[in-house]
Amino acid sequence: MSVLTAEEFLTAEEQKQVKAAIQQAEKRTSGEIRVHLEDHIDEDVLDHAAFVFEELGMHQTRDRNGVLIYVCVADRQAAVIGDQGINERVPPHFWNDVLGVLQLHFAAGRRAEGLCEAVAMVGEKLIAFHPLRSDDSDELSNEVSIGKR
Ligand code: CA
Ligand code: CA
Repeated sequence: MSVLTAEEFLTAEEQKQVKAAIQQAEKRTSGEIRVHLEDHIDEDVLDHAAFVFEELGMHQTRDRNGVLIYVCVADRQAAVIGDQGINERVPPHFWNDVLGVLQLHFAAGRRAEGLCEAVAMVGEKLIAFHPLRSDDSDELSNEVSIGKR
């Protein structure tokens, strides 16, 4: 099986689908969801996702409710992490549940569908615990970001 690069992981159309899923969720929550793709990493995927979280400024949201869905394409690894404002409210297994759904879809080659479903799952929790506020702003970009290494 050929190895995809982070840039090949989603087509332009699929990137738009994922962005639309994020926009859809963020219409009903003050939370901020981002999807970030990268190629190979050397460190532990969770540690690295935490690093990317900071690098993307995701720890600076007003309500500390940013959630990152991170995929390391070449290594076939992923991580889903949330800032303290959402992490302290969801059950401890929640992030792993999302990851499981993501990996099931990826294993079947459904990359965009997997990401959209993961976004929707995360969105449900954000909507439940951080409903949209009247003074909401889009604090973090909804575009899929692709890390250059
Ligand atoms: Ca927002
Ligand atoms: Ca956003």
